Amino acid sequence: MLGLQGKTAVVFGVASEDSIAWAICQQLAEAGADLFLGYQKRFMSRVFQLKDKLSAIKGFYPLDVAQDDTTREFFDEFAKEHPGRKIDVLVHAIGFAPRSCFDRPILFVEDADINTAMTISANSLQRCLKFAMPHLSEGSSTITLTYAASTRFVPSYGIMSMAKAALECWTRELACHLGPHGHRVNSISSGPIRTIAASGIPGFDRILDHVEANAPLRRNVNQNDVAGTTLWLASPLSAGVTGQCIHVDAGYSITMVPQSIMDV
Ligand code: NAD
Repeated sequence: MLGLQGKTAVVFGVASEDSIAWAICQQLAEAGADLFLGYQKRFMSRVFQLKDKLSAIKGFYPLDVAQDDTTREFFDEFAKEHPGRKIDVLVHAIGFAPRSCFDRPILFVEDADINTAMTISANSLQRCLKFAMPHLSEGSSTITLTYAASTRFVPSYGIMSMAKAALECWTRELACHLGPHGHRVNSISSGPIRTIAASGIPGFDRILDHVEANAPLRRNVNQNDVAGTTLWLASPLSAGVTGQCIHVDAGYSITMVPQSIMDV
């Protein structure tokens, strides 16, 4: 029904078993897709431990989206080992901002750190698609992960809010640019989930508590919630959907005044 049997999925963003990308890999594998992972060298030992847990992983190559050369290398390696193989699904689950982006008041964050956060967390979607393009199958689906601080203030998310706003804008731009060639590009706006990337955000546990108490579903989402929607976006079931930002957040983003103010 999902139509992913034998399809080729490239997944960027596995750093640990807690990574949202790891849950995505598991669900894509269950749906029958072959997986190719791009991993950051600093997480190599963890990724090596994980690769044996999914026989659907057919290849994994280093990836650093900070530069053209290190991004191109991934696709060169992929093409060299699997000549002619086309990519049906590309998952971009990458985010990073230097520590100082969170430690300093936003007014005093340095240009170089802002640029790093924007390059890796937002502009890298364009870079990945630029090098993926010759390898994409007709009707391919690209999915990236964003957060609702792109459009509304979240304390301590700082520069990452700008990066996520830009990432969502890239999603629309790239969807329009690639749509005439049959390729789709969408983003999923995930609620907060405890992962390595999230652990760098000051006050993250308090955000989790707040969302659990106030989201319409009265819970936080987890990696599998996001993976399920990724599967749908990867599949032909969503063939008419592109350029969209789909919220997987237990409904939190539709609220403004929390119901809990009535409880006092
Ligand atoms: P994670 O730490 O498991 O994953 C982040 C990934 O980004 C890691 O695999 C890391 O290797 C990769 N990465 C960072 N810099 C890179 C670079 N230069 N080149 C290649 N890869 C690089 O955390 P996660 O929470 O699973 O994050 C995945 C995505 O989900 C991120 O875009 C994040 O912003 C987004 N997201 C997370 C949450 C959350 O609460 N966890 C909420 C909304 C959106």
